[in-house]
This record gives sequence, structure tokens and C-alpha cells, in this order.
Amino acid sequence: MKDLDRIFKEIDNSTEDIISLQTMLTAEPALSPENGGQGEYAKARVLTQWLEKNEFTDIRVIDVPDKRVETGVRPNIIAAVEGQDSSRTCWIMSHLDIVPPGEKSLWKNDPYSVVEKDGKLFGRGVEDNQQGVVASVMAARAFLKTGITPKHPLKLLFVADEETGSDFGIKYLIKESRLFDKDDWFLIPDGGRSDGTMLEVAEKSILWIKFHTQGVQCHASMPEQGVNAFLAGSDLVLRLSSLKETYDGDDPIFDPPVSTFMPTRKDANVPNINTIPGDDVFFMDMRILPSYDVERVLKDIRRMCDAVENRYGVTISFDIIQKVESVPTPADAPLVISLQKAIDHVYRVSARPVGIGGGTVGAFLRNEGLETVVWSRIDETAHMPNEYSILDNLRGDAKVMAVLALDP
Ligand SMILES: [Zn+2]
Repeated sequence: MKDLDRIFKEIDNSTEDIISLQTMLTAEPALSPENGGQGEYAKARVLTQWLEKNEFTDIRVIDVPDKRVETGVRPNIIAAVEGQDSSRTCWIMSHLDIVPPGEKSLWKNDPYSVVEKDGKLFGRGVEDNQQGVVASVMAARAFLKTGITPKHPLKLLFVADEETGSDFGIKYLIKESRLFDKDDWFLIPDGGRSDGTMLEVAEKSILWIKFHTQGVQCHASMPEQGVNAFLAGSDLVLRLSSLKETYDGDDPIFDPPVSTFMPTRKDANVPNINTIPGDDVFFMDMRILPSYDVERVLKDIRRMCDAVENRYGVTISFDIIQKVESVPTPADAPLVISLQKAIDHVYRVSARPVGIGGGTVGAFLRNEGLETVVWSRIDETAHMPNEYSILDNLRGDAKVMAVLALDP
């Protein structure tokens, strides 16, 4: 039998283990302290003990200190399988933490006890991100059990704190651990479509800004005695919206294919109709194609503020609430090509590189110049009540990971 057939057979025979591991992991709710939990410690222990009992010999735990949890640490786990050629490593990164179940009455079953029905497993975390955790574990174990060596080292990385900022997870590991090499590949099985055709390779840069316009409050019948901050702020918001004409490039891998500059939140000013407001506060959410320099956008914004100040006699300050710049993984990067082949081999569909609006952990790795693709075959039930993972998808994703690691 060919290597790949032996590995596929091993994965097909692992269904009982998939269900029992999903059940054990779901029973240890890894909620961050922000969500009222004690972090990933108990769940990480269940996983490391399982790995030790199931062929894995190279397991490393990196504890990141966090005083807010009883154990004092947020664990990140690496489980490694040796490869024939260690010039680069194939990393599969999934996260241990979950989000709370939300309104309990919306769940048909206890969110922390896995229920199997119609080829699906139900429970909080079974898809986000245990489909990735368990699929990668089954793919790696198939190599260990069959004695087949992947082309390159295969390293499973199970991180903490993905749902609430990644300070105790991947951000810490990038900064402190020197684990990653510039030629390494990163698959993040934590996002995708039901047919498995979406390869997320790029994100727009995110820019959230609060604009504060200050004028002089006065009676509405005597406007010349004050300076109307609302009027000046309204002029500013229109000018800012016109940034879409300056930054009008498009990139078809994104949907929508253009940069967006949207006014969103507007804070209340005076409570009565006959007062001219001296203060105006609004916010913008801007998603900028990665081909543009965010610093240049910021300079244009300051210039628009200056022009409105001069015209109305107001003072305008702005605070950057969030600024995340993003470097894309090229749509024709070797990892993308290999993953497309692997997906085609297993699922018989052609996957397409896409860009999204921004805000995933992929950006942290891409910004370090590391090739990173977010992919899985999921119905995207993450964070919903009655979250589920389809067993066929879990086994299929494990096979895609195995093909990627074998690199036939
Ligand atoms: Zn997730």
C-alpha cells in the first residue's frame, strides 16, 4: 500500500478516538479571565496526557505567566513529528480557548457535554477550534503510528488566548520564543467555508479612529457667539468619506475588492434643540487594502482635520483606537499551491485564495514575513449556540493536513 493510503486508512479508523478526544476537551471549558474563566490549563493537561498516551514523544509546553488565573500560567503546547528534511517546518496552529456558550436556553444540549447526531458533534468549542486541534492531532498520529516520515518536520501548535487578544498566545511566542524560521509554513485551521474552497491569505489593514471636534457652545438663536462643533464635524465626516476616491485601487481577492472608510459610532452631544454644541465626537472604521501605506492615510486625515479647523475655527484631535497593518501571503506562494493540491486531492474542489476585512491571528504571523493560510472545511458555527463539527470534515481536514505534510 502507498504511504498516503496507509495514512488515510489510519485517519479513517480514528473516528472513536476523534469523538472521545472531542468529548474530553469540551468538558474542560478553556475560558479566558476576560470571559470569567481560569484559562487553558486544565484543557491543556487533558491534551498533553492524551498525546503522551498516543505515540507522541516530542511535546513541549510553554507557560506564559498570567497572574489573573489560579495556576498563574497560560499554557501553549507544541507537539512535533520529525521530518526527512528540516530546512523548513510545517506548522499547524490551532487554539485551545473557547468563547462562553451565551444564552443557555438556546442550546439543545449541555454545551460542555458532546452529543453525536447525524454525523455531527455538538458542543461549545467542537468547531472553534477543536476541529483544527483534533484534525491536526489525528494527522500527526497517523504518521507516528504508520512509521511514515513526513517530508518536513510537522509541528502542531496549540495556543492560548486567541479569542481575547493573543497576548498570552501567539503574540508572546513570536516575541519571546524564537520558534519560527522565515521559510516555515503556517496552516491555521480556524476559518473557511462549507465546501472548503476558501484559502484566506490576506487581510485589509484596520484603522479605527475617534474624532473629537471642539468649538464653543452657545444659544442657537445667536450662533455668531459660538462655534458649532457639530457642523464642523459633519463637514469632516464627509471629507473623510471621500478618502475612498484617493485610495480607490481594487484587489479582486477581497470582498468587497476596495478599501472602505466608514463613519460608525456617533456620540450624543447636547440634550436640547436650542443649544449649539461645543463638542462633537464620532468614530470611523477603515479597512485599507494592504497595498496602501497606513501612515500615508493618516497624513491625509490630519490634513483634512487642519482644513476643517481653518474653515470653522474649531480644534480637532483624533485618537487611534486600533491600527493593525497587514502584510499578505502572496496568492501564488508555495504553501498556497501545495494546499490547493492537497484540498483537491481529498475533497475534489478547487480552493481559491481570498482576502478578508481583517482581524485574525494570521496577520501576526504574516507581519513577521511568514507564509500563512487560514483554511478549514466548516459550516462556521463558531460562537453560535449548538456549535457543531461534521465528522467527515474533521477526518477530511486531517487528510488534507497529512497530504500537505507528506508533500507528495
Ligand atoms: Zn477560533
